[in-house]
This record gives sequence, C-alpha cells and structure tokens, in this order.
Amino acid sequence: MLRYTYCTSCKKDFIIKSQATTRPDLQMEKGDEFVLNCKNCGKTEKKHINDVKAEIDNRLLIASLALGVIATVVLWIYFGAIGTASAIIPLLIWQQQMSSVKTFNSYMIKRK
Ligand SMILES: [Zn+2]
Repeated sequence: MLRYTYCTSCKKDFIIKSQATTRPDLQMEKGDEFVLNCKNCGKTEKKHINDVKAEIDNRLLIASLALGVIATVVLWIYFGAIGTASAIIPLLIWQQQMSSVKTFNSYMIKRK
C-alpha cells in the first residue's frame, strides 16, 4: 500500500514515506498536520492528515504476480495440478491490499 498526497499548486503527487497502515497510525507518526516541501515547484505547504490518500502499490502487485507464476510453475512440475493452487497467492495479496486501502481512505481524522 502506498500513501500519498499532492501539491495544491502544481498537482504533483508525493509519496509519504511511512509504514502506517491506518490513518490514526499515520497521525501518531506525523501529527495532525505536516509540512510538504514540493520538490517540483518549490512551494511549502501544510497538509492535513486527511489529505493523505492510500492506493495499491503496483510494484508489489507485479512482484506478487511474478512470484505466484514462478511458484505455480515450480510446484506444478513437482506436484502436478495441485501445485496450481499457489496461483491464488497474488489474488490474496491483491485482496488484502484492496481492503487496507479501503480502510485507510474511509477513516477520517476529526479536524480540530
Ligand atoms: Zn508543487
């Protein structure tokens, strides 16, 4: 899962470096507001924690898909048809990512 926010003046997206899985976790880490220093247009602005959005990390999806394919091929060679069950791994990872993105985006911190 990726967490990102954008610069209001040039609309460029910025990835927030954090391992927080929920908005309250991110709030604990960054506080209610944090300063975004735009490397694109040089503007510095205050961002509220609610301005952070989560989305699926495509690199993780591609990696899990690749891993799933390799695992399926290897297991299929050794165990036959039953090995193809590992093809479900990327699907499970995708589902898990989808639900954590949904959880993150649907939970808003009360603005003071
Ligand atoms: Zn900018």
